[in-house]
Amino acid sequence: MTDPRDRLGRPIRDLRISLLDQCNFRCPYCMPATEYHADYQFLSRRERLTHDEILRLARIAVGLGVTKLRLTGGEPLLDKKVVGLVSRLAAIEGVDDFALTTNGMLLAPLAQDLAAAGLRRITVSLDSMDEDVFRAMSGSRGELGQVLEGIAAAERAGLRPIKINTVVQRGVNDHTLLDLLDHFRGSGHIVRLIEYMDVGNRNNWRYEQVIPSREILKLIHERWPLRPVDPRYQGEVARRYKYLDGQGEIGFITSVTEPFCGSCSRARLSADGVLYTCLFAATGTSLREPLRSGASDEDLADLLTRVWLARSDRYSEERRVQRPSEQVINKVEMYRVGG
Ligand code: SAM
Ligand code: SF4
Ligand code: SF4
Repeated sequence: MTDPRDRLGRPIRDLRISLLDQCNFRCPYCMPATEYHADYQFLSRRERLTHDEILRLARIAVGLGVTKLRLTGGEPLLDKKVVGLVSRLAAIEGVDDFALTTNGMLLAPLAQDLAAAGLRRITVSLDSMDEDVFRAMSGSRGELGQVLEGIAAAERAGLRPIKINTVVQRGVNDHTLLDLLDHFRGSGHIVRLIEYMDVGNRNNWRYEQVIPSREILKLIHERWPLRPVDPRYQGEVARRYKYLDGQGEIGFITSVTEPFCGSCSRARLSADGVLYTCLFAATGTSLREPLRSGASDEDLADLLTRVWLARSDRYSEERRVQRPSEQVINKVEMYRVGG
């Protein structure tokens, strides 16, 4: 069956591939250093999918209706052969959008090669332009200057417009948001302010640390008036706004306060080959086992289709009704399935 619809009528359009579970940062909202310490056992090379396996699954997913691919992690640029994988994925017929999400630390020397290999777009995560706040939010691992060099290199390589992902946490970086927006106004890059989400179970998430996008929108609008703009395509995650003075565009990802599950067409593949149909899923389906025990492309396509047909995830919408503290599910961690 091509173009399967899930139980809520949603197609599969977007595959996010987590290349590896390791990261050179320890952002407290994602991989707190107390949990991910020196002895933490990350996946072994053998446990991770090979690039051949990733490519095969991506082709099969595209055959079922996926048109967007995104490489993520953990930190995807820690994979020394990432450029080779990018060129092979870019060559898949039927992919009209191909992006990568990175913390930007290793981007500067790679940007040109990634673009030449066929990457179309890049998202760089950057939580603050205040050096101390930035460093704290990277778990004391990030260098702001190096990330900014990465952004400049991506711009020179033509990976424009660059999206800048900024997680907003009350009492942590909210006082530095206007400076960050000011820095990128007029640059052509699009800052996307993300509500702090209760992904996984290890970041000690508290509702009190979420600032509703509505509140931030008001704050920004008072300084630089904004107007809403229509989504570019159905299922777009960010709510888009443009500065009235022509200095560009920003977006809000309102997963907590205004969820958008109704149009969610995203599937996620972890580095060890588990397919998740929701960012907040507790369980997924291993594609690695059938892959490694001789399943044909048709078998794998059937399995993927069955998983998608059975999908009824709408966690963020349900979370609005039932506060997360009352939920006792063991959710997958963000660094395993990417953003
Ligand atoms: N390491 C890469 C990076 O940071 O860009 C890619 C993977 S990271 C898991 C993908 C995105 O998820 C980042 O933009 C990050 O800020 C976001 N993220 C991680 N944990 C989050 C949380 N609890 N709430 C909201 N966004 C989160
Ligand atoms: Fe690493 Fe990205 Fe998670 Fe930060 S958000 S710890 S950079 S995977
Ligand atoms: Fe999609 Fe799950 Fe997020 Fe809803 S909560 S938008 S179903 S990933």
